[in-house]
Amino acid sequence: MSSLPILKVAVSVPLSREFDYLSATTEPEAVPGCRVLVPFGRRRQVGLVLGRATESGLARDQIRQSLETLDDSPLLTEDDLWLIRFTSDYYHHPIGEVVATALPTLLRQGKPLNPTIHCVAVSDAGESADIESLAKRAPRQAELLEILLDAGGNGVDEETLTEWVPTWRRAAKALFEKGLAHRFSTRADGDEPVSPGSGEAGPALHAAQQQALERIEAHEGFGVFLLDGVTGSGKTEVYLRMIRQVVDAGRQVLILVPEIGLTPQLVSRLETRLGVAPAVMHSGLSDTARLVAWRRARAASAKLVVGTRSAVFTPMPDLGLIVIDEEHDHSFKQQEGLRYSARDLAIARAKRKNIPVILGSATPTLEVLQHCRAGNFVRLQLPDRAGNAKPPNFRLIDLMRAPARDGLSEPMLRAIDKHLDSDGQALIFLNRRGFAPTLICASCGHVAECYRCDSRMTVHAKNNVLRCHHCGAARALDVRCTVCGAEVRPLGEGTERLEDALRAHFPGRRIERIDSDSMQRRGAIDEALELAAQGGADILVGTQMLSKGHHFPKLTLVGIVNADQGLFGTDFRSAERMAQSIIQVAGRAGRESRQGEVIIQTAFPDNPFWKCLIEGGYPRIADDALAEREESRWPPFTRLALIRSAAHKKSDAHALLDVARRRIEAKQTERLRILGPVDAPMARRAGRYRAQLLLQSSDRRLLHEILADLRPALESEPSARKVRWSIDVDPVELF
Ligand code: ADP
Ligand code: ZN
Repeated sequence: MSSLPILKVAVSVPLSREFDYLSATTEPEAVPGCRVLVPFGRRRQVGLVLGRATESGLARDQIRQSLETLDDSPLLTEDDLWLIRFTSDYYHHPIGEVVATALPTLLRQGKPLNPTIHCVAVSDAGESADIESLAKRAPRQAELLEILLDAGGNGVDEETLTEWVPTWRRAAKALFEKGLAHRFSTRADGDEPVSPGSGEAGPALHAAQQQALERIEAHEGFGVFLLDGVTGSGKTEVYLRMIRQVVDAGRQVLILVPEIGLTPQLVSRLETRLGVAPAVMHSGLSDTARLVAWRRARAASAKLVVGTRSAVFTPMPDLGLIVIDEEHDHSFKQQEGLRYSARDLAIARAKRKNIPVILGSATPTLEVLQHCRAGNFVRLQLPDRAGNAKPPNFRLIDLMRAPARDGLSEPMLRAIDKHLDSDGQALIFLNRRGFAPTLICASCGHVAECYRCDSRMTVHAKNNVLRCHHCGAARALDVRCTVCGAEVRPLGEGTERLEDALRAHFPGRRIERIDSDSMQRRGAIDEALELAAQGGADILVGTQMLSKGHHFPKLTLVGIVNADQGLFGTDFRSAERMAQSIIQVAGRAGRESRQGEVIIQTAFPDNPFWKCLIEGGYPRIADDALAEREESRWPPFTRLALIRSAAHKKSDAHALLDVARRRIEAKQTERLRILGPVDAPMARRAGRYRAQLLLQSSDRRLLHEILADLRPALESEPSARKVRWSIDVDPVELF
């Protein structure tokens, strides 16, 4: 016992510390990066060994012993452990929870790195079976057979099948009996390295692309490059060239994208151009599929990894380049639990590895633009659209002179008509789903509110319900006012109402609504977008979902129904946000030879924001916003941290933040601004009262010292037990 090494172990509990254990006496030996099974309280927990020591703050006989080492060799390298530590330090988040975010679920649960996987695959007989006649007799069997045919010889693992077709087992049994499919198990540990093939050659680069590429190529070691170019300017072509070079040199590339919806297009483009399918990592995968992708990345048998936010933690020993597409997108920041920015962590990781990072965006964040100005990042502009596409024309519609009915003004309707008549396609954008955002009594003015939040209920007419978009609560749609019994009516509009109105105005036209309500079925969004891209819909109506990265060749008109929310936003980022969302959605218009038109309905056409946007585009908005932020000392000119708390009693939520404030004040306040505690902008949500304390400083180190002191203090604060609280470093939402 006395000679056993002491292990420093990260355990997934909300405490900012490592736990000491004596190494198990059994093989294999626990070295940093291995998982161990340890006793924790009265339970057993899977932990990760971060380091070894000969001493501990505790006497040896007080230290419990690890029960078992779960890995023969370290799962994670020194570099991977560094990233975990860095994340924990920077975001002031318990290291055990960082490990839990970084590891695939199955590993977190203590399952082996190379589990036995049960798969189902089509047999030779199945390959040549007559699907159509099978479909008539046994549609479910035919459906399953088709999935298996798509998957090819490697088959599909059972867990994935269960997710896709929960009732697959019965159909499978019948297919097995007919000899059309078979079942097998693999202990997939080989993970054969797949070398990139030759792939198709891309178009010859235009001058700006060539220049950008040469700048990146000429650089050695760590460097951050912003590819700043409108949608369609050819950013992806530049990524592809760099990726090709890095992969040809035998190294790995990590590509981060904002959401799963964007992966299929990019994945197929990577595949045709590089001749190899990338490993894909996103939350829509089954646990097994995710583990397989993770393992291939870790073994460097996958040269390319494409993933969403959490893929930033994927171990990649030969990492040579990181690409972050749509850098400005908010989904790179996790908004709960460990509130990390995948973009910022990727940059930190690249710095440690001494490799380049390429950020791409048509609407870069002010943070990144400021780094470019300061000379920390290199800005590479692609000013024109590739090919013949011209930038769209902008036009404002004054809602005071041309009032809207059901969200649509006369000039907007005429424009839609005109574009459809000349064989164009229209996209009508409104970032609000449901039928109407408010249900109001025509007599007493009472508004239907959520019982658990300080918010209004949204009317969902198709399902006859009222739904809270903040906590998910739902109840039957009121027919009469719950207060006075008079008639109620929906006020304002959401995408559902727009869809109805468009159907009434344009009978016979094909209209497709794309939002998270209409696209709940798996694969629905891909199908709808594919259909839209092929011109199978005349009018698309939808939310943010429509604005991201999709290419609709026939689209010539983008109509923005309500753009005023952002003009008077309370958040200092409102203008930046709104400009980003308008430019992104406008980028869908006129991507091929025909010029596009963007029409914006506003009740405030004289607001200077519009002139700025229309005349100077995003760069002007960004310049103005940066000047304003510098003046008022907001980020990127200062650093923020937001401490949030929520409790069933309002006083509890505030009391904890009072404790925090007093502690900070006792230490240092000179170069720090403390705002609050105040109620959160939505003071009650899902039955909890919410409050917040904002810390602001131009001295990043000071801010981090304060947080490093505060975190453990709050963890041991008795009054914290009644409160859910969190620290958000570099928050992107101030509520
Ligand atoms: P972005 O990533 O900036 O949206 P893409 O790289 O996807 O732009 O390019 C937009 C379209 O233009 C794509 O269809 C692409 O194949 C094409 N394209 C890009 N670069 C060139 C080029 N140099 N010559 C011809 N076509 C190009
Ligand atoms: Zn609610």
